[in-house]
Amino acid sequence: MSDTCIFCKIAAGDIPAKKVHEDDEFIAFHDINPAAPVHLLVVPKHHVRSLADVTADDAAWLGRMMTLVQQLAFDNGCTPGHDGGFRLVVNTGREGGQEVDHLHFHILGGPRPWNKR
Ligand code: 5GP
Ligand code: ZN
Repeated sequence: MSDTCIFCKIAAGDIPAKKVHEDDEFIAFHDINPAAPVHLLVVPKHHVRSLADVTADDAAWLGRMMTLVQQLAFDNGCTPGHDGGFRLVVNTGREGGQEVDHLHFHILGGPRPWNKR
């Protein structure tokens, strides 16, 4: 846990968030500034700065995080089926547009058009 990291604080319950999922390893909540009708953030509870910092040792929990995505997307308003779906975004580093330095997956979905992105 980093004392200054906003997503560590959300994972610890020190800052409120509109949670849609929590287990021992991950937390998922609504983005505070949604860019689509459904905009969730999926976050590992342990502090990892970005996807650029993971190694083969992280493959198991990253795999579990990936399989959580579709479940959370369709349980929270993304349209099932090939005409529906969702977008998964992982901004990585400054040039990748990452602003919060704790690894997170954006799940974006719902009927188009979307406001941004
Ligand atoms: P990034 O640009 O790092 O990939 O995205 C960070 C995301 O976190 C942004 O979409 C932003 O709206 C969201 N965000 C930043 N601070 C908070 C917060 O305190 N609570 C929630 N729910 N989302 C946040
Ligand atoms: Zn953190």
